[in-house]
Amino acid sequence: MAETKRDYYETLGVPRTADADAIKKAYRKLTKECHPDLHPGDKAKENRFKEVNDAYEVLSDSEKKALYDQYGHAGIDPSYAAGQGGGFNGGFGFGDIDLGSIFDSFFGGGFGGSHGRTRQQKGESIRANLTIDFAEAAFGCEKEVKIPRVESCGDCGGTGAEAGSSVETCTVCKGSGQTRTTRQTQMGVIQSTGVCSACNGKGKTINNPCHTCNGSGAIRTQATLKIKVPAGIDDGQTISMRGQGSQGSGGGSSGDLLVTILIRPHPFFTREGTTVHYEVPISITQAAIGCKLEVPTLDGRVKYTIPEGTQPNTVFRLKGKGIPSISGGGRGDQLVHVTVEIPRKLNKQQKDALLQFEAASAGKK
Ligand code: ZN
Repeated sequence: MAETKRDYYETLGVPRTADADAIKKAYRKLTKECHPDLHPGDKAKENRFKEVNDAYEVLSDSEKKALYDQYGHAGIDPSYAAGQGGGFNGGFGFGDIDLGSIFDSFFGGGFGGSHGRTRQQKGESIRANLTIDFAEAAFGCEKEVKIPRVESCGDCGGTGAEAGSSVETCTVCKGSGQTRTTRQTQMGVIQSTGVCSACNGKGKTINNPCHTCNGSGAIRTQATLKIKVPAGIDDGQTISMRGQGSQGSGGGSSGDLLVTILIRPHPFFTREGTTVHYEVPISITQAAIGCKLEVPTLDGRVKYTIPEGTQPNTVFRLKGKGIPSISGGGRGDQLVHVTVEIPRKLNKQQKDALLQFEAASAGKK
């Protein structure tokens, strides 16, 4: 950290209004007084000699002098001001000057270039949900989705110029979208690159902007897209469509469209991967003596024979009646879960029949 420095005018013993001649005269006189060659081994004189030379280097250079006059030592040595505020006793100091802005103006973009790139931006990716039926998910479908996205303006073809007018190369940056400024400072030449303010970094200027997009070349619109939903897609899976999001700017690529599939619950099927579950209630009589049923599947109703003596919670498998695998590995199965309903309310006749059945069963065990 720099130490407190004496005011350069004070060092040379001249008033702030001194002209170049007066400064030079004072310098000559002082260097004679303290030149190391004339006073070998005198540390104090040597330091004084350096001080005088530093002061003269700045005050004899009109650009540096101007910076010094305006900003003090900070103007020519940015490291100086950080801790030193009003360290010198001259009548001027930092006053209401914002040091941050001084340093920004010295260092802004000069060394790294975080500022100077043409603004190339990828378009935003868009997320959407699409709700489809159970069977549509199983066998695939084609759906239309409405997507709000940024597109190239159709009226001007994305140029931003009204029909009949032209787009011209920016005369300020010659089409590069960037402007370069060079500054001479105590630290050497500092070059900084910035976005061209005349064309906003586009490199082109439009004299008569398109009335639809106000010259931006892009409009936010509701796009209708066809989406092919593959057979076997499951609830919550996402279809990504590269480049179908909003268009980029400054030559940036378009964003993606990400469509998450939601499947409407089916009235009687449930799904687990490629397996379809179906629950069928039968009566105790059907369970006991067997029956023929029509079981609904994704392919329509199929006849199925429930064998005699079927126990509650027995599961029958209908091979290949499930969901096609999304990766192409064939179809899963449908599982038929049999529940046996025990009657809750019986009339006298039914009760008598059951008791009769019970009596007929007694001797069998
Ligand atoms: Zn337009």
